[in-house]
Amino acid sequence: MRTLITGGAGFIGSHLCEQLIGLGEEVLVLDDLSTGRYENIAHLEKEKLQFILGSVNNTDLVAECIRQCDQVMHLASAVGVRLIIDQPVKTIETIVGGTDVILRACARYRRPILLTSTSEVYGKSEKVPFREEDDRVMGSTTQRRWSYACAKALDEFLALAHHYEYRLPVVIVRLFNTVGPRQTGQYGMVVPRFVRQGLRGEPITVYSDGKQTRCFVHVRDVVEALPKLLAMPEARGQIYNVGSTEEVTIGELAQRVQKATGGRSKIVNIPYEEAYLEGFDDMRRRLPDLTKVHKAIGYAPKRNLDDILRDVIAEFGRSEKRNG
Ligand code: UDP
Repeated sequence: MRTLITGGAGFIGSHLCEQLIGLGEEVLVLDDLSTGRYENIAHLEKEKLQFILGSVNNTDLVAECIRQCDQVMHLASAVGVRLIIDQPVKTIETIVGGTDVILRACARYRRPILLTSTSEVYGKSEKVPFREEDDRVMGSTTQRRWSYACAKALDEFLALAHHYEYRLPVVIVRLFNTVGPRQTGQYGMVVPRFVRQGLRGEPITVYSDGKQTRCFVHVRDVVEALPKLLAMPEARGQIYNVGSTEEVTIGELAQRVQKATGGRSKIVNIPYEEAYLEGFDDMRRRLPDLTKVHKAIGYAPKRNLDDILRDVIAEFGRSEKRNG
């Protein structure tokens, strides 16, 4: 079995490469290295992994990659609230345009595809936990943050449309706050940002009152689930939440990181307007209902927030040493 992983040099993609290679499979990675890093997969580039530098918007290249593979896992995407606000055109073009190119090529060569979507598609809904068929609540189009959620929702519509009209085997996975080693804080993600701040003894920057909650899932739990879902015929045409239900406030997360990194940092609160933009919308709670994925593949995360923080802190420690 040979799998095309778009965005395979990224944070989640590189862990997925390791997972598939560990299962004895071959991987073709297509990545433009815009946010991904070759170092994430350098240790894998032997006979089982081939790397191609290129964009998912390149129609001919995508067609050739898909022709050479048995199935596709589409992870390439703009990521991180910071990047989405700063580069809205690229965000929409990569997400909507790239997925259109990928789905057309999958339809042409009849390749099964797993599309990674996001918990952001639930938007500001306050009806927690979020179930796959729930309504979505989006903010105004004048708030650039929502372009990401809307673009990802359009990807889901398009994938389901290909399934409905052409019987294309598609599985959609909505990922919730996935964290772990190799994730960079550069694009706004809270766990690597807090860990870096804690290890350097800098202030830990909690946005707003810190009472907003998230459920963080270890990337290894996520990448174990994805191949199982793609392999399951009943999953085709379906959407699954994948994440954790261990809910934590961002304020509590800051305290746990502060303690786990030696207690030198102080915790500061920063208003959203200062952190991002005037009128920035944030979700107060984000909690998945995992019933559907549990029924499908027996999914339940094996690692908790303590495991996550331990792994992320260990990896940051190693890379800080490498970089002097
Ligand atoms: N956040 C924070 N400090 C930071 C970065 C993020 O308090 O330095 C908050 C952010 O406002 C949000 C939560 O942490 O409420 C999770 O942010 P992240 O960007 O990791 O993911 P999101 O769930 O917003 O997509």
